[in-house]
Amino acid sequence: MRIKELHIYAHDLPVKNGPYTMANAQVWSLETTLVQIVSDTGIEGWGETCPVGPTYAESHAKGAQAALTMMGEGLIGADLTPLTLHRTLDGLLNGHSYAKAAVDIAAYDILGKATGLRVADLLGGAATERVPSYYATGVGLPDEIAKLAKDKVAEGYPRLQIKVGGRPVETDIEVIRKVWETVGTKARLAVDGNRGWTTRDALRVSRECPDIPFIMEQPCDTVEDLRKIRSQVSHAIYLDENSVDLSTVVNAVGTNLVDGFGMKLTRIGGLQKMATVRDICAARNLPHTCDDSWGGDIIAAACTHIGATVEPARMEGVWLAAPYIEGHYDDTNGIRIEGGHITLPQGSGLGMLPDAAKFGAPIASFGG
Ligand SMILES: [Mg+2]
Repeated sequence: MRIKELHIYAHDLPVKNGPYTMANAQVWSLETTLVQIVSDTGIEGWGETCPVGPTYAESHAKGAQAALTMMGEGLIGADLTPLTLHRTLDGLLNGHSYAKAAVDIAAYDILGKATGLRVADLLGGAATERVPSYYATGVGLPDEIAKLAKDKVAEGYPRLQIKVGGRPVETDIEVIRKVWETVGTKARLAVDGNRGWTTRDALRVSRECPDIPFIMEQPCDTVEDLRKIRSQVSHAIYLDENSVDLSTVVNAVGTNLVDGFGMKLTRIGGLQKMATVRDICAARNLPHTCDDSWGGDIIAAACTHIGATVEPARMEGVWLAAPYIEGHYDDTNGIRIEGGHITLPQGSGLGMLPDAAKFGAPIASFGG
């Protein structure tokens, strides 16, 4: 099967009860980019990529749109089998994995629909039909975050991620301790600095909270920072923002830099690359998440499908932006978190079909 048509859409996703606050960004609304591909056999597939603002990572909405528009003409006639498709994408543009990921996701959607298989089955087979999610709190004050943590544990979330950084570290320590006193071992805890701590801050948090069993997710800015603190902290370290490509992941695993990963589907380049990360982690028994930084139902479905294929003992959860987004692209089969878990969609491909009318006219179209 080959690509016959490719359409690119831009769509605003306002943050429900915004803003969403991280160490280095506060966002009120995100612009997502959607890719609709029609195969030469008449099957329609969808992909999506949605950077969480322009300062979270080296990616932004207009960058995704420019990259996809640049590649558009060259993708007409391209083979949709994933490895071949990635070779075509890499032959058209260097880097820009987060834009290419939208094309990769749409290809899997089409291959699933063509074969009658769910994307999770195409990726090797689902290990569960009920994928655990986790709740990320945003950066907030001790009482507010502790209450939120208690509520989310009561909802059924098996894991909480406490956002920290971008303020005095003493406040971060107070938040961590208050959450621990409130929920204890009822949920697994991650503390996510989103690159916002100095190594001094990370060392202090670990020394002052030796009794609290959290993992530190991307506490500091660089791989070098993490290498510096690695032997000095008693908490497990996960890599998130720095894991920008497979080479970095292999290096982090091979040098024992980290104990796991917060992995983002679009940052690594889509489902084909994410399945490789899953298998590398399996080989060294490292836990990881299967998330994206933001996005609507298409990203949510893609993350849920790959998340379902991860051995449950290593699955740290699939975070979705769904709780911060009003409505769905597919009113019936949109992806929802219920009881802290996501039910794997049953239909072939991604198992949901966006209503294209919600996105207005394409910003660019190719082929046809
Ligand atoms: Mg993270």
